[in-house]
Amino acid sequence: MQRQALAWRREGRSVGFVPTMGYLHEGHLSLIRRARREVGPGGLVVVSIYVNPTQFGPTEDLDRYPRDVRRDLRLCREEGVDVVFLPSDASMYPGRDRGDYSTWVVEEQLTRSMEGSSRPTHFRGVTTVVAKLFHLVLPDVAVFGAKDYQQAAVIRRMVRDLNFPIRIVVAPTVREPDGLALSSRNAYLSPAERGQATVLWRAIQEARRRVRAAGANGVAAGTLRRMVERLVAGCPDARLDYVEFFEPESLRPLKRVARGAHMALAVWVGRTRLIDNGRLR
Ligand code: AMP
Repeated sequence: MQRQALAWRREGRSVGFVPTMGYLHEGHLSLIRRARREVGPGGLVVVSIYVNPTQFGPTEDLDRYPRDVRRDLRLCREEGVDVVFLPSDASMYPGRDRGDYSTWVVEEQLTRSMEGSSRPTHFRGVTTVVAKLFHLVLPDVAVFGAKDYQQAAVIRRMVRDLNFPIRIVVAPTVREPDGLALSSRNAYLSPAERGQATVLWRAIQEARRRVRAAGANGVAAGTLRRMVERLVAGCPDARLDYVEFFEPESLRPLKRVARGAHMALAVWVGRTRLIDNGRLR
């Protein structure tokens, strides 16, 4: 991959990159189309499919994460993707099975809250694998989804702090007609759980309504939190992991929430952990 990328660079071709864990859905495809737009007609689009083991905790769903590489390759072909990069664990983490992989990339500020506090080793895995993929693919532009809002903020920070010569584009969340954000993990949901999974979107919508109605003074974060807790409590198979209201750039938590703030939440629906977020416009 890196040899190919260096050759493209020598030819002066522009490369757009979409990192994924596969089991592609319309959300991923929207990022691929965005990457194509960003690099233009003479550019190249690279998609990586890699279920990165180091971003899963020991009790998480690494072993059952959904996979269908044949289907993913067909979708990529239909989208006109130029290269699909499918690295192996052995090539990405040489020596890790013997305990002698030892270099990590760690962001220390934006990773403290939300996904970072619920999943303590998650972002170390994300920043490390994305840094490695950037070194292998050498893209001009990389496209991430707003669905993983904190992840996009962390990647932007890593790129800034470590001087990666890469432009980061964040594309909007693609949703089902009832508001559920598309996710490979939605495949885990039973029909009953799928019905309850709209609670994340309903919570965002209700927070939006309340913040709009409140005007310039905003609403106390505690009031919004209790509203979300009540919505989630109304779903028999759902359990709130966290909900946060924060400043969209710094991710600093807010005590009072007015228009322009951002919210993010994680909810267990049965054995499936779902996340979502939205700007309170
Ligand atoms: P994943 O395969 O889940 O690691 O996601 C790969 C990329 O797709 C990440 O940048 C995600 O934020 C993005 N993504 C996942 N779901 C969606 C969605 N529903 N809409 C837009 N982007 C998404």
